[in-house]
Amino acid sequence: MTNPSSENNKPRLSLKGMKEALKLFRFLSPYKALYLVGMVMLVFSTLTTLLFPILVGEMTKVLEGKSGFSLNQVAMVFGIVLLSQGVFSYFRVVFFAVVSEKATADIRKLVYKKIITTSIPFFENNRVGDLISRLSSDVAAIQNVLTTTVAEFFRQIATLVLGLAYLFYVSWQLTLFMLATFPVTVLAALIFGRFVRRLSREVQARLAEANIVVDESFQSVSTVKAYTNEKLEYNRYSGLIGEVVKLSIKLARYRGIFISFFIVGLFGGVCLVIWFGGNLVLEGHLILSDLVAFLLQSLFIAGSLAGLGEIYASVQRSIGASERLFEILEEPSEVDMDDEPQRLRYKGEIRFRDVCFSYPSRKDVPVLKDIDLSVPAGQKIALVGHSGAGKSTIVQLLMKYYPLEEGDILMDGKSISEINVTELRSNMAIVPQEVLLFGGSIRENIEYGKPGATEEEIREAARKANALEFIDRFPEGLETRVGERGIKLSGGQKQRIAIARAILKDPAVLILDEATSALDSHSERLIQEALKELMKNRTSIIIAHRLATIQHVDRIYVLEEGRIVESGTHENLLSDSEGVYAQLVKMQFDVLVNPKEKV
Ligand code: ADP
Repeated sequence: MTNPSSENNKPRLSLKGMKEALKLFRFLSPYKALYLVGMVMLVFSTLTTLLFPILVGEMTKVLEGKSGFSLNQVAMVFGIVLLSQGVFSYFRVVFFAVVSEKATADIRKLVYKKIITTSIPFFENNRVGDLISRLSSDVAAIQNVLTTTVAEFFRQIATLVLGLAYLFYVSWQLTLFMLATFPVTVLAALIFGRFVRRLSREVQARLAEANIVVDESFQSVSTVKAYTNEKLEYNRYSGLIGEVVKLSIKLARYRGIFISFFIVGLFGGVCLVIWFGGNLVLEGHLILSDLVAFLLQSLFIAGSLAGLGEIYASVQRSIGASERLFEILEEPSEVDMDDEPQRLRYKGEIRFRDVCFSYPSRKDVPVLKDIDLSVPAGQKIALVGHSGAGKSTIVQLLMKYYPLEEGDILMDGKSISEINVTELRSNMAIVPQEVLLFGGSIRENIEYGKPGATEEEIREAARKANALEFIDRFPEGLETRVGERGIKLSGGQKQRIAIARAILKDPAVLILDEATSALDSHSERLIQEALKELMKNRTSIIIAHRLATIQHVDRIYVLEEGRIVESGTHENLLSDSEGVYAQLVKMQFDVLVNPKEKV
């Protein structure tokens, strides 16, 4: 429509400056054929509608004795017209529904695809609840425009144009007289549209805010409960909902004013037309049956004008929604789902060269300063330091979550800036501190590491992760459901599932964000064994919190305020008793009251 090359769903939108609502039409283009059929049905059903007043006029003519047809003949035509009107209307509704449902699904999928392929900073700048309401309410607002509104628009325009043509044919004087009331109404519609647009944007923004409260309070429900802040959350929510109601009612008031204005204005006009037309009949310029047809037709036209007002408002409502959606669609993607890169297997040699970094959201705060480190393929290093020292940041940069501005990171000697994100990340696996499993079976959660893995591979990974024994103890084994609606696993069990997932992925580089606190000694031993298995033959980067677990790594890097202040093996570093590492170890010893913990 607006851009012929945008027929497929590539999110390439260079339609800036075009009316937002028009942009939506490109989503209809894959269904052009069906849409056209719907349109044809629409034209037919509109035409048959327009025949009603004419046929009523003809009947009046029969009664006046001025028609060449009999009453039965006219009634039969009436019946045929009615029937075909029914058939056309049915197909019109169904075809348009198919098109709009499919087009809306396309929009939803496209927006979801865009959101899921954007980079991490995008998610830092947008709240999840906000994004969810884009996908639900904004898309719903647009669907309304794509279906009812577009079809109705054409129907009303056709009724208007053809109806007017007929009116002119019957009596041009009477038609001109009637038209004198129109410009006022149209002008009012334009001014009114501006109000509605602004208000409806506000309503939607408020609703999104309220959804965010719901999302956040449900997500962290245990915190809400622990602080007995149910009431606080309720008040927050009901405050926002109250605002939504206030604004919506204001919006409804404007629409109410508008609609009653239409009714009074237009039907008042019709009364005037009866008066004017009555005079024409009395003077012999018009026959009564034509006046009857004229009046009926005018009512239809009045109806479609009122309908146009509604359509205008609904288009205005959807413009805000589509603006926000297009804003998302214009975000750059970091992953191209349609273009599967070759997944080169890397050896896993890592090098950070003079990396300086600050987060895009806080440019003025340097987080990493001149980071230089190198890990030969297959070696294990540990990053230690106080919380906030920059350990996780190092890992996030390696995963290419954020773009680098200074320095470089090399993987097997190649700058990661030149490596495709998918390819790079397919060579890495991360076992996070806090394992969050997806709702689904244990099998699905392990398979996430290698979609399509065989039963054998999954069981083997679970076995190596020391997870198989507890999994097999569940009656449903691998099919046991976990997550919100499933069984609750212990922290240690979840960790072993995450380890199995990583083993299955078999990455060149493993990132281990160690859990801060040790589990009971039995679980802890199982996990350490599983980790040992996992780290075998691959480059491993351990974000260490418990120094006891990293004595045997090849090199330890000690970070302080974004700088590497010491590095070496455990023994090397300990030998300098004044060193930062030695101090950290000493501190952990002092707080360790658990005599069972051996360091
Ligand atoms: P560590 O892992 O050593 O605890 P981090 O790498 O998480 O430290 O954090 C280093 C610094 O960067 C901290 O000051 C933290 O506040 C800041 N920081 C971490 N993540 C972000 C982020 N997404 N946006 C802005 N600042 C961040």
